[in-house]
Amino acid sequence: MIWSSAEQLSRSEMERIQLDRLRATIERIYHQVPFYRARLDEAGIKPESVRHLQDLERIPFTLKTDLRDHYPFGLFAEPLSRIVRFHSSSGTTGKPVVVGYTRQDMENWTDCCARVAAAAGVTENDIAQISFGYGLFTGGFGMHAGIERLGASVLPISSGQSERQLMFMQDFGTTVLVATPSYILHLTEVMQAEGVKSEDLRLRVGLFGGEGHTPEMRQLIMERLSIIDTQNYGLTEICGPGVSYECLEHSGMHINEDHIYPEIIDPDTGAVLPEGSEGELVLTTLTKEGIPMIRYRTRDITRLNREPCRCGRTNVRMDLVRGRSDDMMVIRGVNVFPSQIESVLMTIPGIGPHYQMIVTTEQFMDKLEVQVELTDGERLERYAELEHLTQEIRQKIRTTLQIGVKVTLLNPQTIQRTAGKSKRVIDRRHDKNF
Ligand code: ZN
Repeated sequence: MIWSSAEQLSRSEMERIQLDRLRATIERIYHQVPFYRARLDEAGIKPESVRHLQDLERIPFTLKTDLRDHYPFGLFAEPLSRIVRFHSSSGTTGKPVVVGYTRQDMENWTDCCARVAAAAGVTENDIAQISFGYGLFTGGFGMHAGIERLGASVLPISSGQSERQLMFMQDFGTTVLVATPSYILHLTEVMQAEGVKSEDLRLRVGLFGGEGHTPEMRQLIMERLSIIDTQNYGLTEICGPGVSYECLEHSGMHINEDHIYPEIIDPDTGAVLPEGSEGELVLTTLTKEGIPMIRYRTRDITRLNREPCRCGRTNVRMDLVRGRSDDMMVIRGVNVFPSQIESVLMTIPGIGPHYQMIVTTEQFMDKLEVQVELTDGERLERYAELEHLTQEIRQKIRTTLQIGVKVTLLNPQTIQRTAGKSKRVIDRRHDKNF
């Protein structure tokens, strides 16, 4: 189902709305956020000189560090009396990123999240179990509000406690699961351990977000659960979930363009790339009141596609995120994304989906070790078979990525599981051992 008429505007109508909203946003931030005013002044841009969408290219980027440097409320464009909700992203280093929503921001966010669920075919007849964390993380509350607005019955169970999650799934007849893809794969392992079969569940739709997943991971979820698997994308700095979402055509994620304007840039030079190129996604909010974001560098690598979609939506699609520009490892001069390694691993029977990459330096050379779990621990006993499997993985990674790696096979359940985003890459190149 198409939730909003904004998903079916003609290109010219959409661009007219985007330009009006962009100009209003620039006008507001210039007068209400000293940080942006200084940035615009430095670049010699006055709000009234923004006359076309392309004029955005002249405006400097906003980085995650800008949010941290103005912690907690320095980039807010509204007084706290108009803010009705805070969220924050978990910062692993330093201060977290803090965002604030006005009542209108909450309204828009809810509508964007309702579009996500509707595009996956969720209706008022569904029972939706939300296994995202609640609290300061945007995922739980955002999808909760959107799905509730759509009219489905929401079960706000939050993350963790997998046995309990399975009990509710069986007893309530949960039909929609909202989770990270790595958590759903973890749940399928718990199902196996608990003797729960996919036929025992009424699950039919998965709304996956919070982290990306490769086509191969999707295939594995389908094999284990036979559900409709859709991915959606969002980030705290923009609004949380609700930035973009897949429809049932599975041919990219439609961006809520009436609220968010996307650009693709070269991550090294910052130049806007021609239509259809792969590069870093940069987002500008068009309606956000609490904390508008101008040309926010997401670090996510993707591509835009403006061709009409078979689902009837006209809003631009972005490819599933291929990796992060700051996750991209440079191993002996070769660009390597964790998702590329994952794609290789997923094609090999007997291993995965849990893996980790460890980068170290040995005698001034980068070394990449890929640790992956066997699906059957007994194989660790069978030396010849193990050797064969190790060779196969090494060979396939070499063919695809042109780099040699060390492969270590591990017992099932060795790599730490998380309910949130999984840590795939451990870079020890800058650690000091002495
Ligand atoms: Zn579509």
